[in-house]
Amino acid sequence: MNTIDTIAAIATPPGEGGVGIVRISGSNVWEIADQIFQAIENPSAKAGGTFLHGKVIDASGAEIDEGLCLIFRAPRSYTGEDTVEIQGHGGAVVMKNVLRRALEAGARMAEPGEFTKRAFLNGKMDLVQAEAVADLIHARSERAAAAALEQLEGSLSGQFNALYDGLVDIAADLETTLDFVEDELPDSVFPTLGNKLDQNFQTFGNLLSTWDEGRLLREGARVVIMGRPNAGKSTLFNALLGQDRAIVTHIAGTTRDVIEEGFVLDGIPLRILDTAGLREAECEIEREGIRRAREHSATADIALYLIDSSAPISSEDEEHLHRLDLNRTVVVLNKSDRRVDDFRLPIDGLHPVDAALLDGSGVEAIKQAIATKLEAGVNMNAPVHAVISERHRNLLELARTELLHAKEQLTGLEDEGVALAAEHLRSALEYLGQVTGRVYHNELLDNVFSRFCIGK
Ligand code: GDP
Repeated sequence: MNTIDTIAAIATPPGEGGVGIVRISGSNVWEIADQIFQAIENPSAKAGGTFLHGKVIDASGAEIDEGLCLIFRAPRSYTGEDTVEIQGHGGAVVMKNVLRRALEAGARMAEPGEFTKRAFLNGKMDLVQAEAVADLIHARSERAAAAALEQLEGSLSGQFNALYDGLVDIAADLETTLDFVEDELPDSVFPTLGNKLDQNFQTFGNLLSTWDEGRLLREGARVVIMGRPNAGKSTLFNALLGQDRAIVTHIAGTTRDVIEEGFVLDGIPLRILDTAGLREAECEIEREGIRRAREHSATADIALYLIDSSAPISSEDEEHLHRLDLNRTVVVLNKSDRRVDDFRLPIDGLHPVDAALLDGSGVEAIKQAIATKLEAGVNMNAPVHAVISERHRNLLELARTELLHAKEQLTGLEDEGVALAAEHLRSALEYLGQVTGRVYHNELLDNVFSRFCIGK
């Protein structure tokens, strides 16, 4: 193994816990571990897969913490390098002190995701698997975690590799034909290669079709609550979040006037947007509020359109209802406890949900309606499978376009056609290679690993 600098970081989350872990990896790990960890034997004398009980000591030999030192020998470690993990007491101060000792003894502070980056560079996993590590850590639902685990275990990498290998074969065949004059080649050569290309389009399509689910699992679905002032938007916002407060995470609003919160529904993380704060505003500001609500509804996966049914429907509601995309809208008739007798909706086929949100009635039916709309686009009941991310999608689209050009050149019968087709195939392979990291550059790695936390 080449000499590489030794990195260290606290691998456990900040705060208090039973155990805290400082991870140290690189060429000088034994020298560092021997200096800072005192036990009946030196860590450097121990075999991989073993551990020592002892204490972490400062430069003067005074005890900083007591705990375990886990020994990993290259290549059998997470990073593929020599590594130790010191398990101490999980307190912020103790962990900082242990880390400081590792730095004093010669390690350098790890960058975000640097342990995983080394795992990638040392061939322990490909880029798609490395990304799965971050997805697993960031997963906000069981389904998202299960999909990330599938990806970590290589199911997505396998599909990308099969696609890559298939294209390599075609490219090789194509390059071989360049060595012959056209008359020497059997007539079937190019049609056969064309057919093979077509089969690969299908595989591209299959992979790309997992993107919608991938986006929902990774980023969550955006649900925007719309409706006239006083329709009950804030009441609904609180009711939707109320029961799931324990797992609510606050997500900073995209604009100052929009409140956004998240919760998990049927395995899908949702981000609910409410335009609260504008409802009691002056008319002009209110118009701005409606404009923003519309703007949000345009990018939302689902719009919840609330109507106050304690009064006859207003012309504004009618106007809004006509504009909405019904495939993505759940219409809620609120205040059913005070419903006016002749309440009528202006459009058929809206299938509204009846609610009296003040006492919580209708909330479950609304959740059900959201889930049904979301699942209409993506089958969340299908067995969990690894799904592509935005990065994968962008590269797949680029590769598919190159493939399309290759096919055009192949069927175009131009003189240079075959050579140009081969060139497009090489570009396609270049893009595909960036997905799994067969081909990579620093910017690509920075982009992937900046999503990680320090210590992973
Ligand atoms: P927003 O302006 O759309 O956010 O509406 P709010 O959630 O602030 O509600 C406006 C008013 O309607 C409040 O006084 C609520 O208590 C009331 N409200 C909400 N839901 C119901 C309901 O189901 N029945 C009745 N009678 N009042 C409701």
